[in-house]
Amino acid sequence: MNDILPKEITAWHAIEAAFVRISERYNYQEVRTPILEPSALFVRSIGDATDIVEKEMYAFTDKGGDHLSVRPEGTASCVRAYVEHSVNAEEPISKWFYKGAMFRRERPARGRLRQFHQIGAELFGDPGPYSDAEMIAYAWDVLRELKIQNLTLLINTIGGPETKARYRETLVEYFTPFVTELSEDSQRRLETNPLRILDSKSPKDQGMVAGAPTLLSILSDADKTHFDTLLKLMDGLNIPYTVDHKLVRGLDYYSKTLFEIQGQGGELGAQAALCGGGRYDGLVKGMGGPDVPSIGFAMGVERLLLAQHVALDTEPQGAFIVVQHESLRAEAFRLLQSLRSAGIVADADLRGGNMKAQFKRADKSKSKWAIILGQDEMAKGVVSLRPMQSRGDDNTNNKAQEEVPIAQLLDRLQTLLS
Ligand code: AMP
Repeated sequence: MNDILPKEITAWHAIEAAFVRISERYNYQEVRTPILEPSALFVRSIGDATDIVEKEMYAFTDKGGDHLSVRPEGTASCVRAYVEHSVNAEEPISKWFYKGAMFRRERPARGRLRQFHQIGAELFGDPGPYSDAEMIAYAWDVLRELKIQNLTLLINTIGGPETKARYRETLVEYFTPFVTELSEDSQRRLETNPLRILDSKSPKDQGMVAGAPTLLSILSDADKTHFDTLLKLMDGLNIPYTVDHKLVRGLDYYSKTLFEIQGQGGELGAQAALCGGGRYDGLVKGMGGPDVPSIGFAMGVERLLLAQHVALDTEPQGAFIVVQHESLRAEAFRLLQSLRSAGIVADADLRGGNMKAQFKRADKSKSKWAIILGQDEMAKGVVSLRPMQSRGDDNTNNKAQEEVPIAQLLDRLQTLLS
């Protein structure tokens, strides 16, 4: 669980702002749900035979005896809120996005934390496949807005609930003869959740997984049409993708369309999932709501930060007041507050000190202009404005410096900073 220090926060803000921008472009609105939920919510939705529920949830009994968990993901809470507030009675389609901390007791590694942050979205009320394509395009646009390169988009379908049940049986038949050769986890999953064997990272399982039957042969006609239409729409969008029939993803509630966007290189290193998503048509009903089809995605912000190759430098803004002499500090402080009252980003070194040290602070503050208060100038009723960018190290580059009457300072600054 990481601290995010102020020096890192600009990159976080940039990611969150880009996400909000693209979400609004797609007409999504933010939802905020509690971080604590009844444990049963996650067990019922994510599934009791998943890694998250079996091993990773921070679950506890509170002082009143309630079983609660710190949320491991966002979809379950969104669905609970959607059902609890009967949102479907107000509108046929709901487009929600969220951002926030999630908690999973995973083995920590690069890009894998126990408290991590997701940005995600859910669309309720549209059975697809157009909305599937829109959802993938939305996720893709977020990554493009963040200038993340080397992306791989994988798409699969696991069919509706009946197909999924039949595929389960097919996999059990296929893996059972090899059961003793499977990894320990996969042996257990053969009974609890055979689809998850396809997700196995164990080298022991790889050969058997590669030869496993795909779901294609048992897809219903409706599922096939859904998937084919989605792929045609994707072709029209010019978003490169690969169909990967081994993509099953770790959560039980998925049906039909699944997708994952992976990144690679830079600080991220080897290929890693940046975004996971899919359709979960039965979940709203399963949580006691109406039969409302839904689809969503979630991205890990820490991974996006690792994948982002372009340094996000902040634009300098505002003004920093520098005083030539101790006697001007009270005047400088009054000026500082009047600039802030007028809505200007302003700062000063309130400890005073020599000019060189004050300019150092001004540099650190990334201010666009320095306002210099000198005794002679103040006597004439003027201050000096100096652009921070063109200043030489020795503070002697006065080329672009200008004198401004104090009475006009606010107007002049507003013009210069606009
Ligand atoms: P999931 O909710 O498992 O589908 O994950 C969606 C995305 O969240 C993944 O693609 C990752 O980018 C991110 N993510 C999941 N688990 C973690 C974790 N433990 N640490 C950091 N990011 C994570």
